[in-house]
Amino acid sequence: METRIYMDYGATTPVHPQVLDAMLPYFSEHYGNPSSVYREGQRGKQAVAQGRASVAKLMGCPDPREVYFTSGGTEADNWAIRGYALKHRHKGKHVITTSIEHHAVLNTFKALEEKEGFDVTYLPVDEKGFVDFNSLQNALREDTILVSVMTANNEVGTIQPIKAIGELLKEQNIAFHSDAVQAFGSIPIDVQAMHIDMLSVSAHKMYGPKGIGALYVRKGLKLENFMEGGNQERSHRAGTENVPGIVGFGAACNLMADELETVNQRVTALRDDLIEGVIAEIPGVTLNGDPVRRLPGNAHFCLEGVQAEALLTSLDLAGIAASSGSACTSGSLEPSHVLLAMGISEEKARGSLRLTLGRDTTKAEIRETLRRLSAIVQRLRSLE
Ligand code: PLP
Repeated sequence: METRIYMDYGATTPVHPQVLDAMLPYFSEHYGNPSSVYREGQRGKQAVAQGRASVAKLMGCPDPREVYFTSGGTEADNWAIRGYALKHRHKGKHVITTSIEHHAVLNTFKALEEKEGFDVTYLPVDEKGFVDFNSLQNALREDTILVSVMTANNEVGTIQPIKAIGELLKEQNIAFHSDAVQAFGSIPIDVQAMHIDMLSVSAHKMYGPKGIGALYVRKGLKLENFMEGGNQERSHRAGTENVPGIVGFGAACNLMADELETVNQRVTALRDDLIEGVIAEIPGVTLNGDPVRRLPGNAHFCLEGVQAEALLTSLDLAGIAASSGSACTSGSLEPSHVLLAMGISEEKARGSLRLTLGRDTTKAEIRETLRRLSAIVQRLRSLE
C-alpha cells in the first residue's frame, strides 16, 4: 500500500504535540470548573485567562477581555452577524457580505434575510476571488449597519484587502466583521491595524483541537447574546468553559506566534513547487485564485475533463487525502459557489481540486503527490 499523504490542512490540522501536552492535565488532573470558588476551580479559571491572553496576542488585540470563547468558527460567525444585526436593527436593516463566504456566514445572512426582514447585498468578486472595492463603496447606504468580508477564502485561498476595507468602514462608522477561520495562525492578523470590529477564529485549523473557537469583539460594541444561561464569558456566552480546548487554543497561538514566519516561508515554497509541478506536468490545468496573494498552504486547480468526485476517490485510493473545495461541501455534487462567483463555468468548476499543505508537509510528499496525481488524471481522462 502507498504511504498516506495528507493534503487537506485547510479542512483541519492535527493537534500539535506541544498543544496536546499542554491540554492533557486539564482533562484529568486540573478538572475544576472555572466558576467554582475553591482552588481546583481557580486553577481552571487561571488557565482560561492564559488561553484568552494568548489568543488575543496573536490577533493584535490589546485587551484579552475583548476575546470570547465559542464552540468554533461557525458559532463565532453566527454570533457576530446575528448578534450585531439584531442588536442594531433599529439603526438600519441593510447588511453586506460577499458571494464567496463560507456557509457559516452565507447561511447566517440568508437567515437574516428570510426570517428577520434584512436587506442583504452579496458583493461580487473578480476572477481571482478579490472583493471588488468599488462595489463595496457603491453598496454602502444610509441604513447599512454591518459588513462581513472573510480575511482569506477557504477554497481558493485569496487574501482580501482587509485593511483597506476596515479603513473605509471605520470612516463610515459601519461595523466590520471578518471570518478569519482559514487565515488565523496562517498569516499575520492585527485587529487594531486592520480596523476589524469582530473577528471569528477557530483552533482546529491551526494545530489546536476541534470544538473551540473565539470571537473578538471590539470594546464598546454591543451584540445580542447567542447563548443564554450562566454568567460565563462576562455574561455574553453562557456554558461551562471548554478548559482543555481553551488551553489548547492558547498553546497553538503561542506556537504560531513564535513560528508563523518560518512556517510560512517553508510552506509557501513547497506550495509554489507543487503549483509549478502540477502546471508543468498535467495539461489542461488552471490555477484558481491569485498566484501571490493567497494563503501559504493553498493550491487550488481546475482540471479539464475530470470530475472532482472521481478524482478525490482515486486520490484517496492512491493514499492522498484532498478535497474539491471546502470540507463542508464535499460530498455534494453542486459546483462550488466560490468558483461560480469568480466567473468559472459550471463544467469547469466540477473538475476542481484543493490541495492544502501544512507545517508537516515535506518535499518528498510534494513529489509523490505530483507523481500520483499525474497518473490518476491521465487514467481518468483516458476513460472519458
Ligand atoms: N469559516 C471558514 C472560512 C472556514 O473555513 C470554516 C471551516 O472550514 C468555518 C468558518 C467553520 O469553522 P468551524 O469548523 O470551527 O466551525
